Amino acid sequence: MSWAITPDRADGGPARVLVVGAGITGLAAAHRLRDHLGEDATIVVAEQSSRLGGKIRTVDFAGRAVETGAESLLAARPEAIELARAVGLGGDLVYPAGLKPGLSLGGELVDFPAGHMMGIPGDPADVAAIADAKELPDDGMPILRPGADMSVGELVRSRLGAEVLDRLVAPMLSGVYAGDVDRLSLRAVMPQLATALERHSRLTDAVTEIKRPAGTGPAKPVFATVDGGLTRLVYATSAAARADVRLGMTVRELRQTPYGWEAVAGPVPDPMRLKADAVILAVPARPAADLLRGVEPHAAATLSGVPYASVALAAFAFDHIDLPERSGFLTPASGGKTVKAATFASQKWPHLGRRRQIVRVSMGRLGEEALLQYDDATLAKTALRELGEHLGIAVPEPIEWRIDRWGGALPQYSPGHLTRVAAAREALGKRAIAIAGAAVDGVGIAACIASGQAAADEISAQLKSE
Ligand SMILES: Cc1cc2nc3c(=O)[nH]c(=O)nc-3n(C[C@H](O)[C@H](O)[C@H](O)COP(=O)(O)OP(=O)(O)OC[C@H]3O[C@@H](n4cnc5c(N)ncnc54)[C@H](O)[C@@H]3O)c2cc1C
Repeated sequence: MSWAITPDRADGGPARVLVVGAGITGLAAAHRLRDHLGEDATIVVAEQSSRLGGKIRTVDFAGRAVETGAESLLAARPEAIELARAVGLGGDLVYPAGLKPGLSLGGELVDFPAGHMMGIPGDPADVAAIADAKELPDDGMPILRPGADMSVGELVRSRLGAEVLDRLVAPMLSGVYAGDVDRLSLRAVMPQLATALERHSRLTDAVTEIKRPAGTGPAKPVFATVDGGLTRLVYATSAAARADVRLGMTVRELRQTPYGWEAVAGPVPDPMRLKADAVILAVPARPAADLLRGVEPHAAATLSGVPYASVALAAFAFDHIDLPERSGFLTPASGGKTVKAATFASQKWPHLGRRRQIVRVSMGRLGEEALLQYDDATLAKTALRELGEHLGIAVPEPIEWRIDRWGGALPQYSPGHLTRVAAAREALGKRAIAIAGAAVDGVGIAACIASGQAAADEISAQLKSE
């Protein structure tokens, strides 16, 4: 069966854009496309699964709206907060209580030192209670050449020693990437620090420069979420985009035609052909690579080289559990445990209320995919046992629990990632096709929104210049 989004646009009629993937990137792109292209444009969002949101999924758990995937928006950068306001959720933004997470070391929860950047201290003395930090003698040369890259592990180990890396930096980064610090690109995961290192010969000086307070006034919250769950942001963005959203529609092939783009989508025995003037790929790296193989092999190769880590999340609701007054804790991988972090969600987020205590436990790092094969009961038992060990308490029986597996969910940016992505975009050129999302531009929701919007800006500009 053949289905065109609308008839051919040879006469300069309304634009037709196909967005592949209805995660937050694809939906933010669709929303921005609507702004640029107006009401006449046809914007189709093809989503292979039966729901919107990708890695964002809120469920009703113990009578609360609880996240099974991403739980917070970075409010320190503008994109997520601005999108929430633009789609009518400004009044529903809520903020954490301001409790700090702890670091679980040798069966004890300790405070993270102040003045660090993703665990890297501005002064080695600040972390003396936790890690032996030895700063390398200063050779007067900037640590990074312009455009050069290195792994976070290499930087921190060589400049401040292995303990700072293992006890502070790795747990912080593991909370976001579930990755291996020796394979994570400094430029991609700490771009501001990488730029500062082009001017500084001491790592601590670069951190201090970045951490210097920009002025006085009350500190703004770094994170936020939406009362009722982040799925509300997903649906509100989709509604505001007024896009033609097709759930259960896998895009399986893509080719350029003399008039634009043609995609083969839908079930193998009954495929549809979608015609569009432009395409935005807002899918993880593997499907994006598959779709680009016949279009631009160089871009496909870049994407197929992005590894992914898998994680499992256990959520528990307790009538009462004796939790420390913190937002949760992180653990170093060297502790040899399966649990890498826990969030005391009902303490961290006041809007959830404390009548029932909700704890989210995160398990799995890069290379630990086998963990996801354990059955739910085994994962829940492991999470509860280790929770008790980290907190030094006997954990009571939860009144409700659930396990969510996120296989291949967190992209790992290896050194040189940004250069490779820039080259892939260069190779795609101005053919009215764009790549966006966590696979290329950043794991966080705010970064994904920025990426989807930038793709929409670029595609709209190309369509208008035609
Ligand atoms: C457990 C977990 C916790 C996280 N916590 C946070 C957090 O607290 N804060 C934060 O900012 N970020 C967090 N993240 C990261 C963030 O959620 C993701 O990076 C982001 O949501 C990715 O958005 P995306 O749209 O780029 O990709 P995705 O959400 O992966 O969406 C891509 C969509 O494309 C669809 N798709 C794939 N192939 C095809 C195809 N061929 N045809 C059609 N559709 C296709 C998929 O089904 C999916 O819906 C977390 C991630 C995980 C896994």
